[in-house]
Amino acid sequence: CGVFGIYDPKLDIPKYIYWGLFALQHRGQESGGMALHDGENIHTHRGMGLISHVFEKGVPSATGHIGIGHVRYSTTGANNPQNIQPLAVYTSMGQVALAHNGNLTNTRQLREALDKSGTAFQTTMDSEIIVNLVARSHKKTIEERMMDSLRRIEGAYSVVFMTKDALYGARDPFGFRPLCIGKTASGGYVIASESCALDAIHATFVRDVLPGEYIKINDRGITSQMYTAPQSKQVCSFEYIYFARPDSIIDGQDVYQARLNMGEEMWKETQYDADLVISVPDSGTTAAIGYSMASGIPFNYGLIKNRYMGRTFIKPDQKQRELAVRMKLNVVKSVVKDRRIVMVDDSIVRGTTSGIICKMLREAGAKEVYLCISAPPVKYPCFYGIDTSVRKELIAARMNEEEIRAYIGVDKLHFISPEGLYRAMDHILPNTMCMACFNNHYPTTVPVVTEEGEKY
Ligand code: 5GP
Ligand code: SF4
Ligand code: MG
Repeated sequence: CGVFGIYDPKLDIPKYIYWGLFALQHRGQESGGMALHDGENIHTHRGMGLISHVFEKGVPSATGHIGIGHVRYSTTGANNPQNIQPLAVYTSMGQVALAHNGNLTNTRQLREALDKSGTAFQTTMDSEIIVNLVARSHKKTIEERMMDSLRRIEGAYSVVFMTKDALYGARDPFGFRPLCIGKTASGGYVIASESCALDAIHATFVRDVLPGEYIKINDRGITSQMYTAPQSKQVCSFEYIYFARPDSIIDGQDVYQARLNMGEEMWKETQYDADLVISVPDSGTTAAIGYSMASGIPFNYGLIKNRYMGRTFIKPDQKQRELAVRMKLNVVKSVVKDRRIVMVDDSIVRGTTSGIICKMLREAGAKEVYLCISAPPVKYPCFYGIDTSVRKELIAARMNEEEIRAYIGVDKLHFISPEGLYRAMDHILPNTMCMACFNNHYPTTVPVVTEEGEKY
């Protein structure tokens, strides 16, 4: 998911939220919305689909100078209209609205406790637990109630809250998901999932929110405090590999440069003798350029992507996923025919995409296909907000690398090593990224996963 919050008395807030969310659309395409203040109450304006669709009749007007927004990518809770964010609740201290990116890991325990105390849930989202904890807290101020709630939840969360007179942001103590602060030209503040959203509204980057930090922005400016002890930092490595936009900078690391470097590391690790480097667009392109630059093997577009298709990852069944890949990508025969090709993609999850593409390349006359993947094999599920699925669907959980190579049908297959991935980072210290879906070292306690794939 993507979150965005703005505090600026001089701007037409809804438009800026719209542009911010538009820049974060890659973080979730299923639904979205904003929460605004009309002078008396906070109202949410939400809908299914892309942000341009949700607000196709125009953005709402608002009298307030604070607002938050959200784009949703569903991992917990079904993809239905009840589960759209932001969420707004009434508390005895006034209204609070929330937008959440991440996934909580103690949901079941918290839900059971809230159920016992008579809380009726309206959605199946873990995010609803956060606002309920705020509403039910016995602390004396709304801020203490928010922090009280944050101290009780576990897992991944980058959140923005709004009340009638302040904007708040917080990041979980491990910092799994990104969150940064920007300043508008008119002296206001923005909190956003990624720095590309600040660029979009011409705000200047101030800094990243720290793991365990709680930010408050109101008419007196910006204040910060640690609401909990920070843990050793564990930002999600998949943000750098795939999820984030390449023009964002997360925790000091330029995502584009990281991906170029991943390509270079893969060249060092493979040294394939080939005629051509191609990518699986768009997610594999930057690493492919990096491979080409380091090796001197020319890069070319061997696959063309239909720009009017959304992301193909989350589709109900295998057959639909295959059709979706063929709709989304096509081969340029004149480029690939009779060539030995290094093809670069960011990740193999179920193995669907690469298998189909390899078949298409062969049909078009490619001589050899060497596949380089800028993520290590994904063997374990993510509990922190990336839908790398239940374990039995993960091809690397069932097969070793040689079996995967044969299944996909390529001549050679290489996954970047975890060491290579770290070397690709110029501003991330050793052991400060989460790599749990590759190595099973979950930074927090995690729910139990059954064979059916249900997470408890
Ligand atoms: P596979 O076909 O192996 O299941 O999926 C791999 C492809 O899905 C890669 O091209 C990668 O770019 C994309 N991918 C990996 N993780 C995600 C994700 O969390 N969401 C979406 N939308 N796509 C993903
Ligand atoms: Fe990211 Fe994988 Fe960790 Fe999930 S398990 S937060 S996808 S690195
Ligand atoms: Mg891809």
